[in-house]
Amino acid sequence: MKELEFFNIIKNIFSTKIYLLISFLFLSLMLFISFFVKSTIIPSFKEQVISNIIDNTTRLAFRISKNMDFENLSKDDLSKNLALDLSIFKISKIHYFDKYGKIIYSTKKEKIDNQKIDWYFSDVLTKGKIYYEIEKNDKNTLLEVYVPILKGGDYQGAFELYYDITNEMNSFEELSTKIMSLVLFSGTFFSMIFLIVMYNASKSNLKLKNNEGRLKELANTDSLTKLYNRRYFYKIATKILKLSQRAKQDICICMIDIDNFKNINDTYGHHLGDYVIKNLAKRLNTLTRQSDIVARYGGEEFVLLFPNTSIEGAQIIAKKICKEISEQKLINKKINLSYTISLGLSLYNGEDSIDDFIIKADESLYKAKHAGKNQVIF
Ligand code: GH3
Ligand code: MG
Ligand code: MG
Repeated sequence: MKELEFFNIIKNIFSTKIYLLISFLFLSLMLFISFFVKSTIIPSFKEQVISNIIDNTTRLAFRISKNMDFENLSKDDLSKNLALDLSIFKISKIHYFDKYGKIIYSTKKEKIDNQKIDWYFSDVLTKGKIYYEIEKNDKNTLLEVYVPILKGGDYQGAFELYYDITNEMNSFEELSTKIMSLVLFSGTFFSMIFLIVMYNASKSNLKLKNNEGRLKELANTDSLTKLYNRRYFYKIATKILKLSQRAKQDICICMIDIDNFKNINDTYGHHLGDYVIKNLAKRLNTLTRQSDIVARYGGEEFVLLFPNTSIEGAQIIAKKICKEISEQKLINKKINLSYTISLGLSLYNGEDSIDDFIIKADESLYKAKHAGKNQVIF
């Protein structure tokens, strides 16, 4: 029962448009946030790390180019002078190019006099812009920065500096893993809260729907027998009558009244009277077709509507009901009792109002009572 309730609450979420819309928006928001963090926030952190290094590099390159006399100092003196800078800034390699791309000085002696003809020399560096690349091998990550040297706006050559940024990248990876875990964790957390809120909203909504349904049922049915009440009977009977008229089908009505009901009440009490009314309601339900309408007309009176049924057919059913009721032996609280009913039938003439149609059946019932009760009259 509980599981069925759970299943119904979930089903209600899927069948309610506004819940689907809210869920869709929530899911989109969650996906958007994860995507945004992964594609924008984390790369921008990385860019920040690299741009800090490049700023330092540019300043360093500018200083070196001012302080070092590459043309006149010996290679050994240059290396000595540069050694401190290299260690302070944790530079692993440095090349100094002239404006034709030839290496004039390098911390790797074998590279001196090599010529570089890569596209970025002519397309980037000669225009005074910085160019960088990240090189990764199994152990280390190297940032390779090319800084142009300008004198009075003229391109004079460039520095290439290699930084080992393995540590920076490792701590960056750690940070981005932490950020993504945080996003995932809060996403899960908010999804859980969202699901709980959604579940409870759906539960309340379902309760409201059920209450509405129950109220409707209460308005349409009789509380003792759970049969349709007179008001609702009129409502559906009017519709069915119109339908039969259009389809040119026979339709019959049968009014039923319990015989000497006052005696039952007086002899055994109201409780037993109610029991008899409930018993008749149950029997009428089982003895008629599903397409027939059974209603409590009031007190100990009931009404049956037989759509698409000839008067002969209605008579057969009415007589069968009359016989079944009179033959049944009831035992309630050790009291043996039986009762009978009288039935009045009428066939719809295709013109009467519903009221006149019922009155005619009522007249037949009146005749049945006068003819000695426990019988059917048409
Ligand atoms: P008849 O054979 O001519 O129909 O006689 P009767 O005694 O059945 O006649 P009448 O229609 O006068 O009596 C109906 C009684 O049914 C009157 C009322 O007190 C009683 N009654 C009406 N509704 C209920 C109910 O819901 N429960 C009980 N226990 N009695 C009811
Ligand atoms: Mg009566
Ligand atoms: Mg009666």
